[in-house]
Amino acid sequence: MPRHATSVIALAALLLAACGERAPEGSTVIRAARLYVAPDAPPVDDAAVVFVDGRIVAAGPVGEIATRGAARLPACDGGVVTAGFQNSHVHFTETKFAGAREKPATELRAALTDMLNRFGFTTVVDTASVLGNTVALRARIEAGEIPGPRILTAGGALYPKDGIPIYLRDLPPEFLAGLSQPASVEEALEDVQANLDGGADATKLFLMTPLGAGRYAFMLPDIALAAADETHRRGLLVLAHPTDIEGINLAIEAGVDVLVHTTIGEGKTVWDAALINQMLAKGMAVVPTLMLFPYELHRAKLPPEVVELATGDAVEQLRSYSKAGGQVLFGTDVGYMADYDPTEEYRLMARALSPMQILAALTTGPAGRWKESERRGRVEAGMDADLAVLEADPGADAANFAKLRCTLRAGKPTFERPGA
Ligand SMILES: [Zn+2]
Repeated sequence: MPRHATSVIALAALLLAACGERAPEGSTVIRAARLYVAPDAPPVDDAAVVFVDGRIVAAGPVGEIATRGAARLPACDGGVVTAGFQNSHVHFTETKFAGAREKPATELRAALTDMLNRFGFTTVVDTASVLGNTVALRARIEAGEIPGPRILTAGGALYPKDGIPIYLRDLPPEFLAGLSQPASVEEALEDVQANLDGGADATKLFLMTPLGAGRYAFMLPDIALAAADETHRRGLLVLAHPTDIEGINLAIEAGVDVLVHTTIGEGKTVWDAALINQMLAKGMAVVPTLMLFPYELHRAKLPPEVVELATGDAVEQLRSYSKAGGQVLFGTDVGYMADYDPTEEYRLMARALSPMQILAALTTGPAGRWKESERRGRVEAGMDADLAVLEADPGADAANFAKLRCTLRAGKPTFERPGA
């Protein structure tokens, strides 16, 4: 018998064995027209993902996976499956999330679905909020009471002394009075420790803030450094809001891990090679938040050509940072930005990155940055069953990252497209 015939028979036997094999007790299967195991692996067509107790036990070509007897989620079948997404810049500061300890579960569920679940987000980084409220919301999600993403929170942010940014001035005075504006290293350490002891997973620093009329406040370098060192001592991450290049320089000095925005300046805010090299040397990640800029500038009624110049700056920063090997984490600033739909973010990112680079910014990149590559970011056996099921292939059009059929967190749907 020719050798290839033997191998065809062997392969057929293997496939039959797999199809006929029983899936593990208590497992669920979803079928995928296409599966993206990870951004660095070729896609698999006609695939299946099997999970038990919130963990993936098998993922790959349907013929090679034991699926017999597994429960089904028909609304989630037939899409394009990737690992669940992380939005690395959100806020739980809108009134719909206030009073999270006692608010009816149905209301919080609707708010989470509207802002996050329906867009595939299974992990989010809240980059500043009222810590106690966000911790209460997280506890109810983790208890299984409300379907929602895993929340990593920076809790209360630190601002420069007398440096509350102009765009927060409309918030209630009692809220503003509670914001941390340390005047000394001792005060900064006290605030950082209280925040992390209270359940925060990171420290967020506003290094440079606009005060209006062209004036800015800056966090003193020794205060920023002390806050960052204390956070790193606990093995946690430091996030920073830079506003402008001077803010990035302060971030480099302090050893910040993640810049939560790019910077804008009407066609003249270039991140030059020297700046990029310093950022790379510190291993800094960048959250571009590109659609935030047109959103803000349109609201400020600036002419479209100015908006395009400013947005183009940010796209260019993303392109040059990524090209130099810098890490990019997807994030939109939803919760501050009232436009929840990330389609425009994907379109703008696609001007600088490939679809697989965007997938990395949504999955493997943030998993690694948060030291969780062992449990999430890829669709493989042993990983959390956090999955995004898309209607269409993001490899063909990055805007398809925003079109969800289903979102699953730990194997349970947090979103199913109505009528699916
Ligand atoms: Zn923000």
